[in-house]
Amino acid sequence: MSRTAITVAYGDGIGPEIMHATLHILQEAGAQLDIDPIEIGQSVYARGVSSGIEPEAWDSLRRTRVFLKAPITTPQGGGFKSLNVTIRKSLGLYANVRPCVAYAPFVRTRHPQMDVVIVRENEEDLYAGIEHRQTDEVMQCLKLISRPGCEKIVRYAFEYARANGRKKVTCFTKDNIMKLTDGLFHKVFDEIAVGYPDIQNEHLIVDIGAAKLADTPEAFDVIVTPNLYGDILSDVAAQIAGSVGMAGSANIGEHGAMFEAIHGSAPSIAGQNTANPSGLLLAAVMMLVHIGQGEVATRIHNAWLCAIEDGVHTPDIFTEGFVARLGKEPCTLQPVSYASTKKGIEMGTLVTRRPAAKKDLVGVDVFLHWRDGSPDDLGARLSLASAEKLGLTMITNRGVKVWPNGLPETFCTDHWRCRFLGKGDAIGHSDIISLLQRIEALNLDFIKCENLCNFDGEPGFALGQGQ
Ligand code: NAD
Repeated sequence: MSRTAITVAYGDGIGPEIMHATLHILQEAGAQLDIDPIEIGQSVYARGVSSGIEPEAWDSLRRTRVFLKAPITTPQGGGFKSLNVTIRKSLGLYANVRPCVAYAPFVRTRHPQMDVVIVRENEEDLYAGIEHRQTDEVMQCLKLISRPGCEKIVRYAFEYARANGRKKVTCFTKDNIMKLTDGLFHKVFDEIAVGYPDIQNEHLIVDIGAAKLADTPEAFDVIVTPNLYGDILSDVAAQIAGSVGMAGSANIGEHGAMFEAIHGSAPSIAGQNTANPSGLLLAAVMMLVHIGQGEVATRIHNAWLCAIEDGVHTPDIFTEGFVARLGKEPCTLQPVSYASTKKGIEMGTLVTRRPAAKKDLVGVDVFLHWRDGSPDDLGARLSLASAEKLGLTMITNRGVKVWPNGLPETFCTDHWRCRFLGKGDAIGHSDIISLLQRIEALNLDFIKCENLCNFDGEPGFALGQGQ
């Protein structure tokens, strides 16, 4: 077997001890690796590098494209960026894969049959980090969902299911409320599912889906979901399977992959030789499968299952007690085999770019910061800005229609979305600029405007609640 170069970061807190333990086991099991260590985290932040990673470390990651990472301590306070988010986004690691498996009766769980893999979208959604304070009372976070982003993650989930002998992929979204963003995710899921007739597919609204997952996780196999839901649900799933401390995760992209435990650097137990290396070790098993060393992965995973069966738990799991189990298979727990699992997953065409739609500008939502009266006062005043081509049709407050004919009970903040629609003739950007000038002349404070367009005749915007 040829050697594979990997980049390794020992991290902070318990990071170095669990990484030493993991690498010791990999070596004893016969993994063929050339290890390139890099420094990340606390010591790098302390040198004033706000990203927590030096340029030379990027060179290593770009060269090896495989990263085994121990947890790091994220500095408190502003000015520092999350290293994880930086690495995921910079390397385009679009899929976060987290197997959540029960090891009953050896690890206590109410769900002994649970064996779920959560495939979480890793780059988009509310994690784009585009946030603004718009008024005294209102903050905004933009939720961005793209068609290519959905295609990549949904295809990955189905390919993962196929490569790992899984039977079903379930999609969780909240598209009954977020019809455009989550609606796109669901739509792409339905489109791509057609290409995988050998895998069952289903969609659940995330709230009832989450309840079902917490109650009967054995009903699920692979779950694919946007970033935020996936972040929350994968912790819930890992915890109800037994412990968040035992789960590993893979972050997969077109240009590289990162493998890590899901827990943090646990500084309070660092240096005491009590930290459990299972999460990092199982992440390393996923890494070995990814780089085509499935037999070594099988040997380690089965030895780990034997150690769990034998009650060899932290801290001795990684001492000679573990290494002595290499080559053994568990008796009660199901042995694993990665010998025939393909190296990585051949993804083929990840994204099919469609021709641009015919885009017609039909109106504009103007957002105002205003607190000088009732919705009717604002409606009356803003109507003065209506013109031949663009007329005020609706005002909403936090998405609820308050003008015309709002309900007096509706609570209003100082943040107003005012919808102007074209009156028939085609409109252009200059009509919007003139509208904004008229609004400025009325002494109204606009925060931003959002163009309203039809795409191939279909509205590219949602109605107001109550409209
Ligand atoms: P944590 O996961 O480090 O610890 C939570 C609890 O679990 C603690 O009681 C800890 O002692 C215990 N624990 C965690 N891992 C364990 C292990 N392997 N064996 C035994 N016990 C374990 O979460 P936290 O305390 O919220 O965060 C500590 C630091 O880690 C913070 O700086 C945080 O930002 C960082 N963090 C890093 C990552 C990462 O690098 N991927 C992820 C999460 C948190």
